[in-house]
Amino acid sequence: MALSYWERAQAVIPGGVNSPVRSFANVGMDPVFIEKAEGAYIYDTERKCYIDYITSWGALIFGHGYRPVVEAVALQLQSGVSYGLATQLEVDFAEMLVAAVPSLEMVRLVNSGTEATMSALRLARGFTGRSKILKFSGCYHGHSNELLVAAGSGALTFGVPQSAGVTETTAQDTLVCPYNDLNAVAEIFAAYGEDIAAVIVEPVAANMGLVLPQEGFLEGLRHLTRVYGALLIFDEVITGFRLAYGGAQEYYGVIPDLTCLGKIIGGGFPVAAYGGRREIMQYVSPLGPVYQAGTLSGNPVAVTAGIAILKQLQDGEVYRKLSGLGEAFRDGLRQIVSNRGIALQVTGVGSLTGVFFADHEINRFEQIPRVNQEMYQRFFRLLYQEGILFPPSSFETIFISAAHSMADIERTLSAVEKAFKRW
Ligand SMILES: *Cc1c(COP(=O)(O)O)cnc(C)c1O
Repeated sequence: MALSYWERAQAVIPGGVNSPVRSFANVGMDPVFIEKAEGAYIYDTERKCYIDYITSWGALIFGHGYRPVVEAVALQLQSGVSYGLATQLEVDFAEMLVAAVPSLEMVRLVNSGTEATMSALRLARGFTGRSKILKFSGCYHGHSNELLVAAGSGALTFGVPQSAGVTETTAQDTLVCPYNDLNAVAEIFAAYGEDIAAVIVEPVAANMGLVLPQEGFLEGLRHLTRVYGALLIFDEVITGFRLAYGGAQEYYGVIPDLTCLGKIIGGGFPVAAYGGRREIMQYVSPLGPVYQAGTLSGNPVAVTAGIAILKQLQDGEVYRKLSGLGEAFRDGLRQIVSNRGIALQVTGVGSLTGVFFADHEINRFEQIPRVNQEMYQRFFRLLYQEGILFPPSSFETIFISAAHSMADIERTLSAVEKAFKRW
C-alpha cells in the first residue's frame, strides 16, 4: 500500500510539519492536510469541509481567497516576483503603516514576526546601550534565542532557556514577569532598572489562550519604562490591524516606543515590520549602527498583498462587523456553558476569543489549570467531528475573520451545544 502523506512527511520533515503546532500533537491527533480553502471554509485532502477558526493563525482577516489580494497579486506577478532592490510599492506600504499605527514614524519591513521582534530588541539594545530585556511568561514573540526564555525559580531571578540550544548566558539577559503583574515589573525595575533596554509585551496576550490586559497594566508599563529610560515594545503581530486599524495601541490608547507587526499586514504572504519613533529608528543600518537586512524583505508580491489588505481595512467598517460576530460568538458560548453548569471561562475582544476550562478568571499564564489542556483536547475533537476547526492547542486563539457569517457562528454554537451534550 502507498504511504500516506503523513507517513512520508515524518520521514523527511521533523515531526512531519514546518511549524510545531500544525502537528496536532497538543490534541493527540494526526495533522489535517489541507487541499484548499475559500472564505471561512477550509477543506482537507479527503474533501471534508470545516469552518476555519485558525485562518492562518490570524493572518487572514478577510478569510481565504480574498479577491482584492488575489487580483492585485496576480497583476504584480506579471512584473516580477522579486528584485532585491527598492520599489515604489515599499514606499506606499510604509506610508500606509506609518499613517495607521500611532507609534510609527519610521518602519522597516522584514519577513516574519520572529524577525520583527528579534530586530526590535537588537535596536532597543543598540539605542539604549543596555543589555537586558523584560518579557512576560505566556507571551510568545517568535523563536529567537533571547525570547525562548522562561521564568527562573523564585522572584527576581534571571530567565532560563525554554529550548535546547538557547544558552544560559543568553537566557540571563532576559527577565520574565507574570502577565498583568505590575508589582513584579516594578520590583524587577527596582533591582535591574539601569540595565533594562526594553519591555516587550503582547498588548493582548494571544499565545496562552486569550488573556486581556487588566485595567492599568499597559499604562503602568508605559509609566515604568519612562521612569527608568527603557523602551516599551508592543508586539502587535496579532493585534495590529485587528483590534482597530491602529492596533491595540489605538484601541487602548497606550503608545509604545517600538511596535512589531506581522500576520495581517502580509495578507497571507510573509511580511512583517518593526518601527517606532524616528530618533530610535535612525539607529537602524544603513542610517545607523544597528545592523539588520533581508534578501526578500519588502518583496514586491508580498507587499502588494499587504497594500491590498490595508486599503480594505482603512475605513474601519470591518471592525464593527468583526466585533459583532465576536460578541455574538462569546455571548452564545457563555449562555451554553452557564445553562449546563460547565466551568468554562470565555475571554475575548473583537474578533479574538479564548476559552479556558477553569472555574476562575485567568489573568496570567500561572493561573491556567493543568486540566485545561486535557479538557480542551476533548472539546477540540468533538467540534472537529462536526466540521468546526478550532486551533489544535489550548494555548492558541480562536480567530474570526470577516468572511465568517452570523450563520457560521450559529452553526458553530450548535456544534458546541452538541459537544457539551455528549460531555
Ligand atoms: C505569530 C507571532 C509571532 C511570530 O511571528 P512569525 O511570523 O510566526 O515568526 C510573534 N509575536 C506574536 C504575538 C505572534 O502571535
